[in-house]
Amino acid sequence: MEYYFDSAATTKLHPKALEAMLPAFSEFYGNPSGSHSMARKSLRKVDDAREQLAELLAVKPSEIIFTSGGTESDNFAIKGPSTAERKPATFNTEHHAVLEPVECLDGAVMPVDESGVAIADAIKDLPETTSVVSCMAANNEIGTLQPIAEVAAQVRENLPTALFHVDAVQGFCWLNMSEITSAADLVSLSAHKFGGPKGIGVLVSKKGCQLEPQLVGGSQERGKRSGTLNVPGIVGMAAAAVATVERKAAKVSEVKQLRDRLSNGIKASLPDAVETVFQEGRLNILPNIAHFCFPEVASEALIFLLEREEIMASAASSCASGAMQPSHVLTAIGYSKELASGSLRLSLSYETTEAEVDHVIEKVTESVNQIRKAKK
Ligand code: PLP
Repeated sequence: MEYYFDSAATTKLHPKALEAMLPAFSEFYGNPSGSHSMARKSLRKVDDAREQLAELLAVKPSEIIFTSGGTESDNFAIKGPSTAERKPATFNTEHHAVLEPVECLDGAVMPVDESGVAIADAIKDLPETTSVVSCMAANNEIGTLQPIAEVAAQVRENLPTALFHVDAVQGFCWLNMSEITSAADLVSLSAHKFGGPKGIGVLVSKKGCQLEPQLVGGSQERGKRSGTLNVPGIVGMAAAAVATVERKAAKVSEVKQLRDRLSNGIKASLPDAVETVFQEGRLNILPNIAHFCFPEVASEALIFLLEREEIMASAASSCASGAMQPSHVLTAIGYSKELASGSLRLSLSYETTEAEVDHVIEKVTESVNQIRKAKK
C-alpha cells in the first residue's frame, strides 16, 4: 500500500475527470478551431467547460484563458503586462514560476515576515510605473496564507495603473476562489493540483487587462494565447473542478482535523521538531500542509527512509548542481541553512484517512530517530 502525502506536488486524476476526457480522444477529437461539424462538437465541449469554470470562479467565460498550467499562467501574468519601462514586482517566497520571470525582467522582490506573510506595506515603495504586483494565495512549501485583500488594497491605493496577479495554484481545493477573483485582475490555476490532468491550467484575465500575448500563431483564445486547444485537458479540468467544489465545504474542515492530528502527533513523539510557522489553531496555513524542520536530520535521508515505508513526501529543497540547496522560502523566513536542510512537507488530500495519518506519524518518528542514531 502506498501512503501518498504529496498532494501539494500533484493529485491523482479524479474519476470524473477521466470519464470526461476519454471521449475527447476518441469521439469529439476535432480541432475546435475548425469549421466542420466535428470541430463544432469539440468547440461546444470547450465552451461548456469554459462556462463551468467561469461560474465556479465567479468570472465571465470571456475572462478565462486556457494555458498549459500554472507555470505558463504565471509567466504570462508577469511578462504580459510588462515592458522595458514598466517592471513587475513580487514577494520573495513565491513559486519560481513567478520569481524567475520577475527577476529576468529586473523587477522588484519584496520581503515577507517570519511567518512567511507578505509585507504589504512594501508596495508603497514600488515605482509608479510598476506593471504588475504578484502575490500567491498560499505558499506551496510551508502553506502560509497571504492577505490577498490587504495586498490588493495597497496595490489599488498606491499603484492605480498596476495589475494585481494572484498565483492561486495551491488554493483551489481549500480557499474561497470568488474572494480571490474579486480582488485580483489576473489569477493562475493548474488542473493537476485539484484532480485534473497535468499540462492544463487557466489564467483568469479580467476585462480591461492589457496583456501582450506570449505565444503567437493561430490566434486561439481571442488572440491572447495561440496553440490548438487541449480539449481533453480542458474538459478534464472542468470535471475535476466541479467534483472538487461539490466536496469542498465538507472536506476542508475534515482534512484540517487530520492535518492537526498529524502535526500534533509528530510534535508529541519528536518534541524538538520545529513546526514551520506554527501558530495556535494553525489558521495561518493551508489546511492540508504539515511542514517540519528536524534538527540534525538531512531531508534526503528522511525522504529515502520514508519511501522505503511506501510513504511519498517532499523535502521542498531543490537540487542545484548536485548539491541540495535550502529552500528559498525557508531562507526568506529566516531559517538557518542547517535547520532548513532537515525540512519535510507532508501534504494531504480529500482522500487521506486517519489510519494513514497514524501510520505516517509512527514512521516519521522511527525514521528521524534512526537517522539520529546512525549519526552518533
Ligand atoms: N505556482 C505554485 C504555487 C505551484 O505550487 C506550482 C506547482 O507546484 C506552480 C505554480 C506551477 O504549476 P504547474 O505545475 O502547473 O506548472
